[in-house]
Amino acid sequence: MAYNLDNIFAKILRGEAPAFKVYEDDYSLAFMDVMPQVEGHTLVIPKDPAENLHDVDPIILGHTMATVQRVAAAVKQAFVAPGIMIAQLNGAPAGQTVFHLHFHILPRADGLDIGMHARDMADFALLETHAQRVRAALA
Ligand code: 5GP
Repeated sequence: MAYNLDNIFAKILRGEAPAFKVYEDDYSLAFMDVMPQVEGHTLVIPKDPAENLHDVDPIILGHTMATVQRVAAAVKQAFVAPGIMIAQLNGAPAGQTVFHLHFHILPRADGLDIGMHARDMADFALLETHAQRVRAALA
C-alpha cells in the first residue's frame, strides 16, 4: 500500500492536527496516545513518511529507536512504572490502525491490565497533565 499523506500522524507532523507532544528532534516526534490503553501511553514516530517497519529507512529507524529508548525511560519515571512495554504493529491484520510507523510505549505493573486498543478517547486536560509529567522527566 502506498503511504497515505492524509493519515492522522502525517497531519500531526504537518501541524494540521493537535497533539500532546512530549519530545521532538530532527528525526522523530513523541506524543500522548489520545485513546490510551493505560495512563502514560505514549507514541513515537519518525518524521519520515513510512507506513510501517517494512518501509522505513534503517538509519531513520535507528534514530527513532533512540527516541523510543529515551522517551520510554521518561515514561517509566513519570508514571513510576516497574515495567515498560513497547508495541509496534505492521499491517491491518496485525491490528495497525494508523498507517504511519509508530511505537507504543506502555507503562506496565503487576495487576494493572491494559485497556482495549484505540477505543476510549481520554480527557484532553488529563492528557496534557500526563504530557507535562513526561516532559518534566525528560528535562
Ligand atoms: P495502531 O493501531 O496503528 O498500532 O495504533 C494507532 C494508535 O494511534 C492507537 O493507539 C490510537 O489510540 C492512536 N490514535 C489514533 N488517532 C489518534 C490521534 O488523532 N491522536 C493521537 N495522539 N493518537 C491517535
